[in-house]
Amino acid sequence: MEPIISLEGISFSYHRPDGEIEALSDISFSVSKGEFVSLVGPSGCGKSTILSILAGLNQAGSGTVDIRDGVSFGYMFQQDLLLPYQTIWKNISLGPSIHKTLTPETKKRLKALLYKYGLSHFSENYPGQLSGGMRQRAALIRTLALDPDILLLDEPFSALDYQTRLLVADDIGRIIRKENKTAILVTHDLSEAISLSDKIIILSNRPAKVVKIMDIDIPCKDKGSLAVREHKRFGDYFQVLWKEMNTPHE
Ligand code: ADP
Ligand code: MG
Repeated sequence: MEPIISLEGISFSYHRPDGEIEALSDISFSVSKGEFVSLVGPSGCGKSTILSILAGLNQAGSGTVDIRDGVSFGYMFQQDLLLPYQTIWKNISLGPSIHKTLTPETKKRLKALLYKYGLSHFSENYPGQLSGGMRQRAALIRTLALDPDILLLDEPFSALDYQTRLLVADDIGRIIRKENKTAILVTHDLSEAISLSDKIIILSNRPAKVVKIMDIDIPCKDKGSLAVREHKRFGDYFQVLWKEMNTPHE
């Protein structure tokens, strides 16, 4: 399939008064429409920097970034960044409101998303009245409100406790598949990456280089990430990934 995103030989450095920080070195990979791709690698290696280049917040020093014409991005981060003094409804409709696209049709779609993802009864509540998992779901609905083609997810589950994290990751993985979105997830949790992804891109220490690209071929992905974790192939993938991550790379 023709890629929706393709990076070729990307390098990038941050320029600071006290010197230069080389963050990325010769990064190449591509993402197809509908694919769920994870970026894994040690903390500080350059994962978020890759997302910032895709988002156009930073410009690659060299190499080419090819993004299919007309494609739009949505973002989700570690903190849900919901506005605390606005209701859930106000929060999720903020994007369309700003873009002047809060039509009756959009409202209907947002209500359907709230319903589908168990938040209908909370639309008039404030974020502080919801659990961490519910807030993350609300944040995802806010992201989906503008109907982006590609979701950039930067460690969106890291602030949650382990139990909640498993459930919310499963939840959000299903939603993304059901809505037929393309997703790029940054995580340092190998199990999370295997359980959600079609493809995992393993990065080295900073400056990030692509160490390996691994296709995850587990047949029950549509049943959710918890089912994938129980599949007999899960452990094999984990071992390969673990070994790869713990082998010193140039
Ligand atoms: P990761 O997301 O993998 O943890 P980042 O992409 O955030 O890593 O950062 C890669 C490296 O670049 C780190 O060493 C970080 O300190 C540095 N860095 C990130 N953002 C900036 C910035 N705005 N200015 C200078 N250095 C930065
Ligand atoms: Mg980061």
